[in-house]
Amino acid sequence: MASQDFYGVLGVPESASPADIKKAYRKLAKQYHPDANPSNPQAGEKFKQISEANSVLSDPEKKAKYDQMRRLGAFGGFANRGPSGPRGAQRPQAEEAFEFGDIGAFGLGDIFSSIFGRGRRAEAEAPAPEHVEVTVSVPFRTAANGGKVPLVLAMNDVCATCGGTGAEPGATVTTCPECKGSGTISFGQGGFAVNRPCPVCRGRGQVPSQRCHTCNGSGEQRTQRQLLVTVPPATDTGTRVRLKGQGPRTRAGGPASDVLITFQIEPDRFFSRDGLDILCEVPVTLTQALMGAVIQVRTVSGAKVKLRIPVGTQPGRKFKLKGQGLEKHGQKGDQIVSVQVKLPEKLTPEQEAALKEFAGKMDASS
Ligand SMILES: [Zn+2]
Ligand SMILES: [Zn+2]
Repeated sequence: MASQDFYGVLGVPESASPADIKKAYRKLAKQYHPDANPSNPQAGEKFKQISEANSVLSDPEKKAKYDQMRRLGAFGGFANRGPSGPRGAQRPQAEEAFEFGDIGAFGLGDIFSSIFGRGRRAEAEAPAPEHVEVTVSVPFRTAANGGKVPLVLAMNDVCATCGGTGAEPGATVTTCPECKGSGTISFGQGGFAVNRPCPVCRGRGQVPSQRCHTCNGSGEQRTQRQLLVTVPPATDTGTRVRLKGQGPRTRAGGPASDVLITFQIEPDRFFSRDGLDILCEVPVTLTQALMGAVIQVRTVSGAKVKLRIPVGTQPGRKFKLKGQGLEKHGQKGDQIVSVQVKLPEKLTPEQEAALKEFAGKMDASS
């Protein structure tokens, strides 16, 4: 492929004036002209590159577009974009910056070819399907202990009836009359042609005698996929996992995209988290707090453990259940139990009498 660094080809800086560009072009064109280099076959290729660079950089409109695409990293991305390249990641930012109206289906490479006239079909440049991103809600205890959560994924997948061709099985397929089989149509814009996928054949270059009845010719089908997502223990909100090859395909037999999952942990009525520690509040009665007691506390793993409340426990006092927190990378957290003293809302006459007596003794002792 010819170099897309047109400034480099002409050996001028980006800030070069039209006169500088013209001068550099003339000098190089003379030097590499095939007539002047009959014994050097590489000169012809070099001459072609020089001419191409000049045709863009000497045209103010083309140069402006080229500069804009360069700034957006089009040529870096263009060169690196393979079938498994992060296509989805590069596109949105670049597309927004372009002033072509409705260019959604194109990557930068396609814009490049539409401007500079390299007839390349959109499909050939776009084998990597978009990945599907979803947020999955996980119950608190499943996230703490690890487990599985079901996920129903609605997606556009390749139509099972026609395999993505859009043709009814048994239909004859002929060359698209609109685009003559190229899959793209071009129309003039700003002095040069812009290629768009052909609306008649949807860029396929071929039309069936009868459209697939399942997808009405689109080649896509809305499907639901049921997945069971494994949640590792001690999973936090924002943790991401990738399910390879669980997403939709863009064509039959093509690579399936990945599903990128971000976990969102639901709150729990009883437990909360602080790193690997589990926090909870446990109610005790007035007399348990005053006189001490042994109470049972639930842990996040579902066990019940005994916790001794000493005499004179103050409301809000915290106790540590060692090693009853979450475990991750060999580290174990604790469960921190905060004691809430529940006061009775009503007293029986006997209780009231007893408390009065108690109060009198408190006053006397203080
Ligand atoms: Zn179909
Ligand atoms: Zn067509």
